[in-house]
Order: sequence, then structure tokens, then C-alpha cells
Amino acid sequence: MTDVAVTENTYELPVVKSELPATSYESIDYDHFLDCVHCGLCTAACPTYAELGNENDSPRGRIYLMRAVRDGRAEMDDTVRGHLELCLDCRACETACPSGVQYGRIIEPFRVAMENELGEESKSSDWFHRFILFGLFPNRDKLRKWLRPARIAQRLKLDKLLIATGLWKLLPKRLGRMVTLLPQLKSEEKPIGNFLQAEGKRRARVALFTGCVQDVIFQHTNHATARVLQKNGCDVIIPQGQGCCGAIHYHSGAEEEARDLADQNLEAFKESFDDLDAVIINAAGCGAMLKDYGHHWLDGSEEARELFASKVKDVHEFLDELGFIPPSGRIEATATYHDACHLAHAQQIQAQPRNLLRQIPGLDLVELPESELCCGAAGTYNLTQPEMADRLADRKIKNIESTKAQLVLTANTGCLMQIDRERRMNGSPFTIMHPMDLLDLSYRGEQP
Ligand code: SF4
Ligand code: SF4
Repeated sequence: MTDVAVTENTYELPVVKSELPATSYESIDYDHFLDCVHCGLCTAACPTYAELGNENDSPRGRIYLMRAVRDGRAEMDDTVRGHLELCLDCRACETACPSGVQYGRIIEPFRVAMENELGEESKSSDWFHRFILFGLFPNRDKLRKWLRPARIAQRLKLDKLLIATGLWKLLPKRLGRMVTLLPQLKSEEKPIGNFLQAEGKRRARVALFTGCVQDVIFQHTNHATARVLQKNGCDVIIPQGQGCCGAIHYHSGAEEEARDLADQNLEAFKESFDDLDAVIINAAGCGAMLKDYGHHWLDGSEEARELFASKVKDVHEFLDELGFIPPSGRIEATATYHDACHLAHAQQIQAQPRNLLRQIPGLDLVELPESELCCGAAGTYNLTQPEMADRLADRKIKNIESTKAQLVLTANTGCLMQIDRERRMNGSPFTIMHPMDLLDLSYRGEQP
């Protein structure tokens, strides 16, 4: 193995990777458990506790269960596993906790350890994970090809028929849900290119992380994000060779595959990294994952990944810090904003998207009740825990409808798909979009 080189502003990964020690219950820093003083102030913020009222489905209860397993005081049986798998990893408990418990640093490696313990029986060994979540989602070209027949089906309104008749329920469970989660696909756009020049005086040089599902299903949002950055005086580089952030893999326990994807991204951004002010991401789940690259894998390359992570900025966070140049196109509509968990809780970004949206002339931004409560998307949770996902989606829709908003804005791929699915199922009259899409329309003087 060659040495890992990290200087002040650049990094090098080793040519030959060192073996990745499998995460176990014992490898989780015990201090994270000790931080919890069992005060229970987090329970009211927890969506599963709010729905079920069961202490074992609360953050305090789950921390207690995980510590008991770690201490050897409890068996990892189906009951304990059930309570832990029902956790959305939304991290609302972190926001609520006055003691600074980093719940994500406990539950995420703990789940990886649970999967490692299961071996061949693990989640990531089943057909759906292998072929769909790991085989299809991270592969943009393959996903694009698979979506072509879906586009034709949507043009023929077969998707609406599938929902109206309930025929989707005849498909294998997770596949059926996945089909209904697919939003109205826009026409494929030309690739964005490698470089877009700042408009006006150059204020920053950034690289855009385009993601996998985001770059296929919400390609228009990536393009809109790049245009908004240009309008704000940013040179935008789109490094080739970048791909999936690895969140789906990591959260399903496939830690080695997740590490490979992370390192592929580090390689892709390496060439331009030195001159970058920021690596920009517009999807909350991917952003949280990229910011966590430095501590997920303990294999000697942590410093390089940490340096990469130190430049990752959510697009709203970045523009708010840079000093946002407001658009001038009026959008006369009532809008509301849903806080994606991995933006509001995992990255503590709540004010910034609202700050930008309030600068759209004509837009009336009203607060959404329980905005920070998970919508049930939570990565692949809506596929693996459909019952709780539906309860939370239903609660979200009721809250949205109470605002009478015409537009719902949220900055995460999963939330966009989950809330839109529920909207279509209910026939609710609002439109959902990413804040960057709305800002882009305002810059261009167009209407949603
Ligand atoms: S996680 Fe925080 S808020 Fe919840 S019980 Fe522990 S110390 Fe209290
Ligand atoms: S991550 Fe979310 S669902 Fe899990 S314990 Fe914390 S608040 Fe509850």
C-alpha cells in the first residue's frame, strides 16, 4: 500500500486499498452511548414515537436497546431488530437533544453491524437490493434506459391507470411501490457539460455533485441548480467520473461497496479540488452522506475523505453564505417548505432555503405545520417499511393541505418522490418541486 497523502488543500488516495475492518457493535465509540442521559426530551420529536407511543420506538429507547446489545445485556433478536429497523434515521432526535447526542453516529454503524452479523441473510443479499437498489439506481446509463419504457407508459397514462385501478398492488411489494413512486418524468435534456461560466463578476468556483437517481429523474433540477449558481457569479465545474454517493449501500449495510463509491467520487473531484471554493450538492440525503465521508470507514484514508467532506456545501447553505443575488421574476403563488430530515437535522440547515425563497418577488411563503417531521421517504425506508411510511406521508399531506399552498418546496430526491406519490394517490391539488427549480424559473421570468 502506498502512503495516503493529504496536504492543506488536496488529497491522494492509496493505489491499493487497505482491508476494511467490518463494522461491529464493539467498533462504535462507546462515548456516543454515554452522551445520552435518558432525559427523554427527544421523544416528542421522533416520528415513530409520535405515531406509536412506544418507548422502544423512541430515540431514548433505541439508544438503550443498542447499548444493551453492545454490553451483552440483550440479545439481538427479531424484536430488537424490529425496533431498530423501524427507525427512519431522520435524526430529528439530534436536533431535539440538549445533550448533543450524535444519534446518527450510533444507529448508522449499528445497523451496518446488524447486517454484518446476518451475513448471507442480510438485506443487501436479496434480489431487490442486488438488482434494483445496487444494480440499477447507481448506474445512470442503465437507469436512463430502464426509464424510457416508463416515459412511454406515462405518455399513454398507464401509470395513472395503474394507480386508479390498484393494479400496482399485484406486483411484488417493493416493486409495486417503486413504480408508484416514479414522478412525472420530464424529457431527457442534453448533458450539462463539464464547465459553465459565471454570469457577471466571478465570485466563486464550485464543482457540482450530480448524484445518480437525482441526475436521471431530477436532471432538470441539477441543470437549474447550475444556472442559479451561474447567476450568483459562480464558475461551475461538473467533474466527469463522479457517481452515486454510496448512501443507499451504506445504509443497507454494504459498507465496502459504499466505500468504493466514495473513493470513486474523491478521484473524480481530485483534479479540480485544489481551486474549488466548494463541492455543491442539492439533494439532502446525498449531502449528509458526502459530509460524513470522513468517519464512515476506518481504513487509513479517513483524512483524505475528511478533507473532501470539508468542502461539501448544500447549495442553499452556500448561496446564503455567499450573499444571494435575488431573482427578479415575479411568482404570484402561495408556497410552503418541507424540511428534508437530512438537511434540517443531519446538516442543521433550516433557515437558508427559506432565506432564498423569501427573495422571490410575489411569492408568499407560509410555514408548514410539523415541517421538520419526516415524510416517510427516508432513503429506501418507504420501500422496506411501507406501513409507517404511509402513515407519515398521510400526516404530511394533511399538514400541507392545511396551508392551502399551491407549491410545496423541498430539497431532497426521496421527499420529492414520496410526497408526490401521496399527492397523486390523494388527488391533492398542489405542485411539488425543488427550491432550485423555482428560483431558476424566477430568474428566467417563467411561471411554475
Ligand atoms: S438522546 Fe438526548 S434528549 Fe434523548 S434521552 Fe438521550 S440525552 Fe435526552
Ligand atoms: S432518527 Fe428519527 S425515527 Fe430514529 S429515533 Fe431519531 S427521531 Fe426517531
